[in-house]
Amino acid sequence: MGSVPPELSTDIQEGAEGPEQIPPELADVHKYIPAPELIYNRADIVSIWVSEFDMWFVNRREFYVQNFYVTQADYEKRSAGYVRIEKATLSREHIIRHLCGIHTIGLYAINPETNSCKWFALDADYNKKETGRDAKADLQAVAQEMKLDGLWPAFENSHRGGHLWLLCDQPVPARVGRIYLYNLLDRLCIPIRGARKNSEGIEIFPKQETLDPEKFGNGLRAPLGIHRKVKRRYWFQDADPNIEAQFKYLRALPRATREEMEALTEGMDMPDDLISKPFVPPLYTGSISPFEQFDIREFTPPPRGSKTNYMTRCPSCAKAGRDKRGDNLHVSPSKDPKKSMFGIPDFYCHGAMKCTFSDIVSACGWRPTHRIQTNQQQEALKFK
Ligand SMILES: [Zn+2]
Repeated sequence: MGSVPPELSTDIQEGAEGPEQIPPELADVHKYIPAPELIYNRADIVSIWVSEFDMWFVNRREFYVQNFYVTQADYEKRSAGYVRIEKATLSREHIIRHLCGIHTIGLYAINPETNSCKWFALDADYNKKETGRDAKADLQAVAQEMKLDGLWPAFENSHRGGHLWLLCDQPVPARVGRIYLYNLLDRLCIPIRGARKNSEGIEIFPKQETLDPEKFGNGLRAPLGIHRKVKRRYWFQDADPNIEAQFKYLRALPRATREEMEALTEGMDMPDDLISKPFVPPLYTGSISPFEQFDIREFTPPPRGSKTNYMTRCPSCAKAGRDKRGDNLHVSPSKDPKKSMFGIPDFYCHGAMKCTFSDIVSACGWRPTHRIQTNQQQEALKFK
């Protein structure tokens, strides 16, 4: 075990067998736990690969590491588990060590400054015995469908299934890639992990459309390194299993462009049931509905037309980027005696979307607690 203290040997992740020999060329990093049989000599790592890896995969400089000890300080602290290095800056040295196999880095999917991504990835690692689904077959079905869309996904083997990577020639908004992938998986009826309460299924990276400041989102084990848990190096399937061939393959792989991704998702949104909509409480069955107090005029631009029938912008159409002329919503005095008593008008959308009452109420962000507060306000809102 060299100078690694004995108690650390049990910390090596499952799958480790026997004592590890640390090669002399790694003497400067002897405190790290390598998987010797898989480690490249750092002299074999070509400088251009490091730049390419950075250019293709690194969205932000923060990263994490999938093994126990990364720096001398981590070693001193004896910190266990995956080490997340939020404040560290990913350097060429970190990438070299990753490619050598000395440590394995995880990369975040989103550049927080632009909410864009250099890659999108799907992770499937479920067990067929438990789920009845074959992770690898699911990913291959997805890859096939992507190819029909003119894209060039790269399949990377992993422990139980794999990672399917889609590399972009320039950063693509996270939202665009997510809309594409969610709809694609729905089209193929493949469960998405985390959506619709699925505890298993394919994981889509990134998992956010935008990141709050100080947030990182989710990361994925970077390719071309060693899977620390099973101590294997997994390669992209369509290239020979050596690092040089892998880089050659990735270099030649056609990238998705932003224009392509936008064309593939034109007019699309996330699947309907996955869009978080404002909560609209159900009508209660008492004699006065809280919705009878909803006055559309509080939420729309000044009306045009006559006092008995005017038109204005439909909030729901507007939210969908429609109703540019601002006249989809017709508003007229209510025939309902209760509503007309308070001067609250009826309204309907005659735009192509035919927005329903609840679409419009939701688009206004209105809740039944938004009551008309005073008689004065009621007076002010009455048709004159
Ligand atoms: Zn509308």
